[in-house]
Formats: sequence, structure tokens, C-alpha cells
Amino acid sequence: MIMTRTNESCVRYFNVAVIAPVNKLLIYSYSDSCLCDIGSIVKVPLGSRQVLGLICEEVLDTGDTASDSRAVNIRNIVEVLPEEFRIPEVCMNFLKRVARYTMNPVNALAPLTMGIVQHYIKSGNMLSGAREEYLIAVRENLSHEDTQKLTAIQRKVIDILTHNDSERYSSETALARAATVSAGVVKKLIEHGVLVKVTAGGRVNTNLRCLSLLSHIQQDAYQQISDACLKQTYAAFLLFGVTGSGKTEVYLNVVAECLDRGEQVLVMLPEISLTDTFIQRVEQRLGVKAIKWHSSVSISQKLLMWQRIASGVPCVVVGARSALFLPFANLTLIIVDEEHDNSYKQEDKVAYSARDMAVLRSSMCDAVVVLCTATPSIETWLNACSGKYQRINLQSRYGSSVMPEVSLVNLRDLPLNKNSWIAPVVADEIRSVLEDGMQVMLFINRRGYAPLTLCRKCGYRFACPNCTSWLVEHRSLKYMMCHYCNYRCGIPDICTSCSDSENLVSCGPGVERLTEEASILFPEVDIITLSSDLVKKPGILKQGLHDIASRKKQLMIGTQVLSKGHHFPFLTLVVVIDADTGLYGCDFRASEKTWQLIRQVAGRAGREKYSGRVLIQTAFPDHPVMKMLVSGDDEGFLRFESNIRSRACAPPFGRYVAVMLSGKDETTVWNIARAYVKNGESMRGYGICILGPAPAPVTYIRRNMRVRILLKMKKDIALLDIVKRWLDSVNVPSSVLVSWDVDPYTFM
Ligand code: ADP
Ligand code: ZN
Ligand code: ZN
Repeated sequence: MIMTRTNESCVRYFNVAVIAPVNKLLIYSYSDSCLCDIGSIVKVPLGSRQVLGLICEEVLDTGDTASDSRAVNIRNIVEVLPEEFRIPEVCMNFLKRVARYTMNPVNALAPLTMGIVQHYIKSGNMLSGAREEYLIAVRENLSHEDTQKLTAIQRKVIDILTHNDSERYSSETALARAATVSAGVVKKLIEHGVLVKVTAGGRVNTNLRCLSLLSHIQQDAYQQISDACLKQTYAAFLLFGVTGSGKTEVYLNVVAECLDRGEQVLVMLPEISLTDTFIQRVEQRLGVKAIKWHSSVSISQKLLMWQRIASGVPCVVVGARSALFLPFANLTLIIVDEEHDNSYKQEDKVAYSARDMAVLRSSMCDAVVVLCTATPSIETWLNACSGKYQRINLQSRYGSSVMPEVSLVNLRDLPLNKNSWIAPVVADEIRSVLEDGMQVMLFINRRGYAPLTLCRKCGYRFACPNCTSWLVEHRSLKYMMCHYCNYRCGIPDICTSCSDSENLVSCGPGVERLTEEASILFPEVDIITLSSDLVKKPGILKQGLHDIASRKKQLMIGTQVLSKGHHFPFLTLVVVIDADTGLYGCDFRASEKTWQLIRQVAGRAGREKYSGRVLIQTAFPDHPVMKMLVSGDDEGFLRFESNIRSRACAPPFGRYVAVMLSGKDETTVWNIARAYVKNGESMRGYGICILGPAPAPVTYIRRNMRVRILLKMKKDIALLDIVKRWLDSVNVPSSVLVSWDVDPYTFM
């Protein structure tokens, strides 16, 4: 008879990723073998505390003498959370792969998956106390006769809900108010089962659905993705279409089918600020309540959602990059909307690219991933060229609207007046558009009033005391601010250095200063200014966008906040004020980012029956990027840019890993950096090239000296294991912080 190990001794050993600043997995034991397994969330002792942890793998007892000594030192798992908190196997495997790819221990990533469970337990509120959100809908197979039996008053409620472009209602009172009946009427209808409450992941009510009828070209696109989903194997698509071509309509049709089959879908958006309007649209089209994974959702609500996701019920989850780490048990489709967007790249704590990890996630669970964009990243475009991704084009805008005409305003021939950033010819254009009753948008990628304040008498420049950066004047908020460390101080009236009070000048424009100029040029016009620090309070951005859409405001001036996702039918002129800022920098993605940003901004113009125009103010009209923006030759730009990258072996042709060392004591930081470079010599044998150490462009942040090392290598996951060993090879004192970023996006 063969005795299994578990029969010999009931103790099992597990490697646990504890949620604590520990940089490796820890071994714990557990003696009741049936209750816990890989993916279980457990409470374990750590020092004198108890922490949560995630069981990553079983450590098989080899039966040697080590086990005895080990048994003495190994502590016991205190508690195993119930089965419904177990992370599905595929998610565990995904966490491990991301950990390897980002060169982090699983602990560092585990909070992304189970953070909400931890928060919930910490906050100590009762699960049973949570009330789940829902939408009210008409029962799916309500017949004509059934409707006839209703009273006139009851029918008013049904009419409201079945009206073609009706709103969604999430409470009895709101619905009653809209139907001008008493809440009792609605309650009765629910009691009698005429109306039902649809919860997230609840039964999909196809009656509520309101999908668009697709055009021929959209139908083709839809069919390809839909077919791939049916096959239930991994496939990746680039859905490449100009803004307004109907990419969203196309994929929502596929999402609906997945839900009908009982599958789970994740739609990732780059920007949290976009989710509200987007979720409304999704719910309206699909007739379901979407799961919004968002910081504004309460902990208990999130925990309910989390459990539903882990239990595998059909649902559509809409969220930013972190939603990718939710414990989906039955994920079959991931949509990455605006795949080129830099906010998919997380840089603090664990550095990862949610777009790349979404592709990985799909490949690990036989799901389909669709990367949607009007301006693909070079990485994605090349993957589509090589056939790794299937490419689907939607070349023209839906319906009769056409792409705006783009032209350059050459600032060399038409110079700006002193302290002015709107060229006189541009001002004339703006005036005539406004006189026609249309709207104009001025785009500038700089927050605040002015990026630099200096004293003309002695040359003093106001800089952050803690960082290598100028203080940016935020006039409307009445302070100077450092954009790296958030240091703030009052707006000065005298020079810090020479005490002169007459000669302080603001240099360069920010969005607020542009507003000042515009209000002098167009005194009659209602102007709205939107930038991230002016719309921090919830609701302000929403109100602002509403005022624009309803034409209460004619001229909008904004930063990136305005560049994406929004749809303004009467906007016909877009002016890019400072197109050149991104063009010449130390960032190898500078051209790509400029191209994407300007194309994106330009896409805001003329989205309906009124055609749009875009004016780009530039001092470099001969720059290839500018020329291709005018011709609209997107393929040309992508080819041009990838040729440059290819010649330089820059990503995505090669891989970069950026390592940053920082600390208060400069000598220690430099010594550690040099030790790393010395140890790294041996990596050259693997073709890994080490550059540095060098002071970072922003040399100080919060008084920490920052030193960079850049590694260049071939794209090969095995090389990352070597780099990881190298990272562990230096004994780093706690006064120095070492962080690293595989495939970095910023180099400051
Ligand atoms: P994209 O995601 O490519 O920017 P959208 O899907 O948002 O494009 O479509 C742009 C606009 O055109 C939206 O208002 C959308 O409702 C409308 N639209 C696109 N396709 C259709 C369609 N087949 N039927 C009706 N409206 C459509
Ligand atoms: Zn001075
Ligand atoms: Zn600072």
C-alpha cells in the first residue's frame, strides 16, 4: 500500500505572500489539510502582529531532517478565510507571472488582488449590512396581455422604462418621481414581479438592451471579434479607428454576446474621470448594471462586487488599470480602450503596464483582448504589423461627420506679441467661429498660471526648496506650487534674493494665463477653464462638460482633461497653443506622445454635422511630426517613428529597465550606485548593457538625491531573472531606496 505524505503527517507547508513590507514569500504550516490551498486568503502571525496573506504554493516536505528543525521555527496559519474569498487559480498564476515580469515578490502585487478584503477586515463592518445597488427593469417576458391588465397609472411606469432612450433608475423613489406616480405604485409592481431589480451580475434582461445597428464596416469588425470569442482561445486585436468611428459601439455588441453566454468581461479605461458617462452608456446599451471599480465606490459595495467576480457570475466590469487584478473566475474578453494612453503605466510602488499585462492575462485564460485606439502606441502597431495582433480598421467616422482639417500656424513667420500666446491670425479665426455661434477649444498642456517666476533685476528664479524644479504659479488657487513634491507657498510680492518689488515677472503660459489673455481678446464670450487641479472636487468636471455640451460656454480652455473621450457637437475649432513643448526632450517617446496628444485633441473637433478645423501653433513647421499631423498620414508617422526606434535598438525593439536610487545622503547613494554598476559588469556577457550611474534630470525630489542606472537588453524574460539577481546582489542600507521599472515610460 502506498502511503501519501498527507497521511503520514497532517501538517502541510505553504509559501505565503504576506501583506507587509517583506520582500519574499514566507513559509507557514497548517494542519487541517482540506481547508486551505493555493489562492486561499489566510491570517498569519508576523512578529507580534497578525497579517493577511495569500497562499502561493505548497512547499512539499521532502522528508529529510530539515523538516524537523523547520517545524520548530515555522509558525502556524491562524485562520483561513471562507471559500468565497479564495482567489481563482488562473489569477494566482497571473499574479506570479506579473511578479516575475516586474521583478517583484508576489507580496508586492497581492494587494492589487485582495486589497479590498484587507480593507474590509480592517474597517470591521459587517458584510450582511451592505445593500446592493441595482437597476429597475421591466420583467423580461412581459406579454402584451400582461400590460393590458395594468392600470393607467402603472402603465406610466412601464412607459418610462421602455421608452427607447430612457434613463436607468436605481431606486423606487427616483423611478416614481420620473413617472409622476407615488413610490407605492412602483413597489407594488416589483412585488407582483412586473418590475425586477437587476443587480450587477444579475440576470441579463435583453428587453432593456439598446444596441446600435452597425454599419457594414462596423459589422465586419464586430464579426471578427465575435468569432474569436466563440472559439474560446486567446486572440489579440488592434481595433484601429479614428475617434468617432464607432469602436465603442462595435465592442459593446460583442460584450452583450459574452454576457448572454454567461461570461465575464472587463472594460479598461485610462481615466477615472471618464467612467461615469461611459458607464451610463454601457448600461444603456447592454441593459445591465455594470460593475464600476472605482475609488468612489464604498468598501462594502466593493467587497460584494469582488465576491461576485470571484464566484464567476456573468458581469461587465468597468475600471482603470487596477481592475485587471480582480479575481475574475470566468473572464473571456478584455477591452483596453485608448490603449496608447500613458496612464495605463503605473509607476509608483510596483511599476507595470496594464495594457501589456491585459494581453498577458488574456493569453493565460484563453480570452480575447481588444486594444482600441485612434493613435496606437508603436508597440501595439508593430505587434499588429508582425501578425501577433490581428488588425481591424475603422477608417472613417460614423455617419456623415468627417475628420477635421488640420493646418499649421508657423510662429516663425507670424510671431506672437509679447506676453501673448494666441497668434493674431488665430485670434481672428476664433472670433469668426464664435460669431457663427459655434464653440472653440484652446488646448495647452500646462497647468497653473505660469511655469516660472523670475526677478528681472537680479535674475533670481523661484525654485522648490526640496526639488530640482521651478515653482509654478497657480494664481486662481493663490499659491506657488512644485509639481513634483506638492510644496506650496504664497505668491511672492518681493524677490527672495534682492527684495526688489518691481521686477518680478511670470514667464511662459499656463492654462490660467491663457484664459486671462482670451478674456481680454473676447470679452463678450463665456469661457470655461478646465485642468486637473481646477476640477479636483467631484462634480465640477461633470458640470463643466455639461455646460459645454449645452452651449452655455462657448470657449473652452484646457489641459489634457479636455483631450479625450468627450463629445461636443458644436465644437468646430480646436487650437493647439504649445505643440512644440513635447517635441524636443530627453524622452525617446516624445514624438509619439506629441503625435498622440495632438491627434486626440484634434479628434474633438467637428464630431457631428458641423465640420471641424484644427490649428496647430508651432515654431517647427518642418518637423516630420508636424507634417504628418497635417497630412493625417498616421501610418506614415508610425513607420517613420518605428524606423528611428529600430535603428537605436530602442523599445520595442529592445528592452529598457530603469533603476532609480535615491536617498538623503548623496555619498551613500552614489556608492551604492557604483556598487551596482560594478556588480553589473558580469551581466554584459548576456548582452545586458549598463548605462550610468548618472544624476536624474530632476536631480532632487523632496531633498532626496536621485541617481539613475539604465539597462538595455534584448526582449527575453529570462534576462529579467538575471537582472533580478543583480538587484538583490548589493546590500542596500535602509537609507537608500532602490526602485526599478521594466519598460519605463518616464525618464525624469
Ligand atoms: P469611438 O469609440 O471610435 O470614438 P463611438 O463608438 O464613441 O466611436 O461612436 C461615435 C459616435 O457615433 C457616438 O455618438 C455613437 O453613438 C455614434 N455611432 C457610432 N456607430 C453608430 C451606429 N452604428 N449607430 C448609431 N450611432 C453610432
Ligand atoms: Zn531679485
Ligand atoms: Zn518640490
